[in-house]
Amino acid sequence: MADIMDRASRSRMMSAIRSKNTKPERLVRSALHRAGMRFALHDASLPGKPDIVLPARRAVVLVHGCFWHRHPNCPRAATPATNRRFWQAKFSANVKRDLAVRRRLKLLGWKVFVVWECQTSERRLATLARRIRSNAL
Ligand SMILES: [Zn+2]
Repeated sequence: MADIMDRASRSRMMSAIRSKNTKPERLVRSALHRAGMRFALHDASLPGKPDIVLPARRAVVLVHGCFWHRHPNCPRAATPATNRRFWQAKFSANVKRDLAVRRRLKLLGWKVFVVWECQTSERRLATLARRIRSNAL
């Protein structure tokens, strides 16, 4: 299939992948805040520049958009019907990178919590905060 996406729109799309301060991210941050936890944002010294870093717990939280990060079996992660080859290459690169980042963080002794954007209900995030507090993955 011909690739009809021009350079400019493609680069806009790429930059959207790692956009900061998305709504899911803000929800996670306020839940952790409510739970009284301290964290830093987008620590560039760590692999993958994790969205949320809790140094005291040696834990990071990665907030993943379902579409870009390919949440398994999630309706938000449907593959667009056009330009499939482009999307599939892009997606598989994202998934590979996410995996590599998680591995490197774990090797450095960090606990890695992943939050999917479709899982940011108050109840779920309160559970996440408890899990982080008890260091239970
Ligand atoms: Zn999802």
